[in-house]
Amino acid sequence: MKLKFLGAAGEVTGSCLLVEADEVRFLIDCGMFQGGRDAGPKNRRGFAREFGRIDFVLLTHAHIDHCGLLPRFAWPRHGAGLPAIYCTRPTADLVPVMLADSAFVQSRGAARPGRRRGAVAETPLYTADDVRRLATRLAAVPYGVEFRPHPQVAVRLHNAGHIVGASSAEVRLVDNGRRRTLLASGDLGENSALLVRDRSPPPAADVLVVESTYGDRNHRSLQETETELIEVLHDTLQERRGNVIVPAFALGRAQEFLVLLYRLAKAGRARVPLVFVDSPLAQQAAEVTFAHLEALDEEAAEFHRAARARKLPFALRYTENVEDSMFLNSIRAGAVIIAASGMCEAGRIRHHLRHNLPRHECAVLFTGFQAAGTLGRKIVDGARSVQLFGESIPVHASVHTLGGLSAHAGQDSLMQWLRAVPRKPRTVFINHGEPLAAHTLSARLARELKWSPTIAEAEKDYDA
Ligand SMILES: [Zn+2]
Repeated sequence: MKLKFLGAAGEVTGSCLLVEADEVRFLIDCGMFQGGRDAGPKNRRGFAREFGRIDFVLLTHAHIDHCGLLPRFAWPRHGAGLPAIYCTRPTADLVPVMLADSAFVQSRGAARPGRRRGAVAETPLYTADDVRRLATRLAAVPYGVEFRPHPQVAVRLHNAGHIVGASSAEVRLVDNGRRRTLLASGDLGENSALLVRDRSPPPAADVLVVESTYGDRNHRSLQETETELIEVLHDTLQERRGNVIVPAFALGRAQEFLVLLYRLAKAGRARVPLVFVDSPLAQQAAEVTFAHLEALDEEAAEFHRAARARKLPFALRYTENVEDSMFLNSIRAGAVIIAASGMCEAGRIRHHLRHNLPRHECAVLFTGFQAAGTLGRKIVDGARSVQLFGESIPVHASVHTLGGLSAHAGQDSLMQWLRAVPRKPRTVFINHGEPLAAHTLSARLARELKWSPTIAEAEKDYDA
């Protein structure tokens, strides 16, 4: 079969894999590039690409870097028509929410051209109408049940343990008259994650594509993460009397962080007076996430029941409108404010950073991966000042990264998943990682499993 990585090669965003075999052509994911100066042009190119015929799309999960360019198929001028998009039920529920938000963010960017270079192109790639058209093609399938998106192809989705509904795709097809199995890991989660159920073991495959976001390092344990968080909360809220600002991905991380706060406050290990979630998208994502209790960890379900019964050990508020959000700027102390975007490239988090970064008594607490070129990465890397809304804002707040809360598996956890693959695949590709991460994982696979993986290069034609 032929594979072409149209994104997430040498980087962690823009996931899009074109697969061709005897009579079939399909995509696994069709994501947006995020962060960095060249994201805008890459998205524009990706959106305008002429695919020719695409028989169907398999979508591993609803993060925008995996689904964000799907609305291209709602544009008949691209000639590809509207293929069916197969994913799990939670993903099918989340995608319209995520894409509608993306269309909205783009329309705002278009209203203020040149406001920011990079993350989002200046003219919108698609509109809410395109998203609505596209959403009619989402087809939900359960984990573990085989379905046939094409007469020559059988697919099963497996729980990837990353966010609600996230999956790895096992694809059986006929190639050159031979039966072959392709396994694409999608984004893999840690098994200690608090929000979703642990991932399923991988099935056997001839061709394996594995992500490598954290291929070069491990996360801290949940225990260490808790200790770290307790310290930051106590030091900032009680000692220094400031606020804790938490940039978090609206989908997944924001909900997981709430479950962690719940766990600590319930056990009396942290005193958290006020928690604000200042992200309409995070609120919508929470609604869909907690509507799928069957996919969630027991503690997450318990948090949800406590929230509904108004029995949480802290005051939790979702801001309803811009006025609510602006009101948060007047709160000087005692608040944990969770806002998107997770890498600080857009959204309300930028307002909270503007108001709290210059204050010595505040803390910024990162909870996830910060891609090269993003504002989040600059702050994590120790910038003394950053540009926000055309102003230079000094960084006086303390900056922390919670080591153990990533939705992505660390290196050991990736190895654990790879070791569980029942037999040695004929071909292994490493994608979805910055070069150092991909190379480090590759070296470890060669050393410990005697595999010889290929590190995926963008736009190259591979015969697998
Ligand atoms: Zn993801």
